[in-house]
Amino acid sequence: MLGNFTYQNPTKLIFGADAMDMLVDELKQYGPVVQLVYGGGSIKRNGIYDQVMAALEAAGKTVVEDGGVMPNPTVEKLYEGVKIARENHVDFILAVGGGSCIDYAKGVAVSVNLPEDVDPWQKYWVDFDEPTCPVVPVGSVLTMVGTGSEMNCGSVITNHEAKMKVGHVFANPDVFPKFAVLNPEFTYTLPRYQMVAGIFDIMNHITEQYFSGEDDNTSDYLSEGLMRSLVHASRIAVENPEDYEARSNIMWCATWALNTLVACGKTTDWEVHMLGQAVGAHTDATHGMTLAAVALPYYRLVMPYGLAKFARFATAVWGVEAAGKTEEELAAAGLDAMEAWMREIGCVMSISELGATEDMLEALADSTLVMEGGYHALTRDEIIRVFEESLKAE
Ligand code: NAP
Ligand code: FE
Repeated sequence: MLGNFTYQNPTKLIFGADAMDMLVDELKQYGPVVQLVYGGGSIKRNGIYDQVMAALEAAGKTVVEDGGVMPNPTVEKLYEGVKIARENHVDFILAVGGGSCIDYAKGVAVSVNLPEDVDPWQKYWVDFDEPTCPVVPVGSVLTMVGTGSEMNCGSVITNHEAKMKVGHVFANPDVFPKFAVLNPEFTYTLPRYQMVAGIFDIMNHITEQYFSGEDDNTSDYLSEGLMRSLVHASRIAVENPEDYEARSNIMWCATWALNTLVACGKTTDWEVHMLGQAVGAHTDATHGMTLAAVALPYYRLVMPYGLAKFARFATAVWGVEAAGKTEEELAAAGLDAMEAWMREIGCVMSISELGATEDMLEALADSTLVMEGGYHALTRDEIIRVFEESLKAE
């Protein structure tokens, strides 16, 4: 049965090749001092920085620059961003980049107005508390597709000292970006590795929500459509990264994969993200590739507990012929089809390729949170087995 739910998503999406034309009008709706958040410099090389600066100037803003946000933003960088925001009394935070910049901007936004003696890491990423202070509004110009952070209220922060990479999905609608500018052409300059990592991140956001529960739920049919569109578009984009239609469909899939729509009325899993984030906490590897490297060993382990859904996945998403197969064979064939697609587009299939080694297994297990919403909650031995299988994979 469809569970009870409340759906609210206040983010305004501005999509298309002309989307930047709307940025000035959006910015005018907020106060005069803007913290401009960006990463390691890709936006300066591909010209997006100049376009954003022109819009900020046309909107009459005072700009406080906050560059150097690293992939997998750290708690130290978060503290630095909060300091910048406080010192400059910023009215608005504009994140220009991928999930790392947007997650970081949200992290700063919920922390700026906390009392100075409250540690945001402890409050939000350890205690999973909600903001008890006004949240600074955030907007985004997206340049890397995958996380869905442009239209959700999640924020993932890494604490290397604690060896934890933790995502907090805030319940406060103020944490959603106010707007997101989505121009598929902005993603053309992404290195192939990042593009593919983003594609698998999208796929996994959908499967994390799909492989849970046995009810008949419209959200699962939406997920199947998104997965079919993603697989189709990804095959075109890896051949021709400048195919506008494919890149725009991937961008649109990413947003819908994780803007809470396909979770409506459902239980969800998220164990692949817990395993992948443990790998990320120890290796700082690219998020989507950490997921790719652990997904198949995990799904093959839990498949017997959710056989009917895995069989449905095989036919509905991959077009596997059901005739002549047992349910087990059909379910396994679906995961084989996903594996073939992952290899075809260039996913990383082993955590050894991401810097993980045999002697890290126990520590990786220590960093893995266990979720209850999937078909089977992993024991510690099973967590180790998933990492072992991934280490051995070629
Ligand atoms: P990202 O870390 O934001 O960016 C990855 C790399 O791509 C960076 O090196 C960046 O370089 C480069 N890049 C971005 N746009 C580019 C462009 N147009 N051309 C060339 N290079 C470009 O990647 P992401 O996958 O979007 O974000 C990953 C983070 O989000 C992780 O911490 C992950 O855990 C988190 N996450 C969040 C959610 C959520 O719901 N909020 C969900 C899943 C994952 P520059 O730094 O030089 O720009
Ligand atoms: Fe993700």
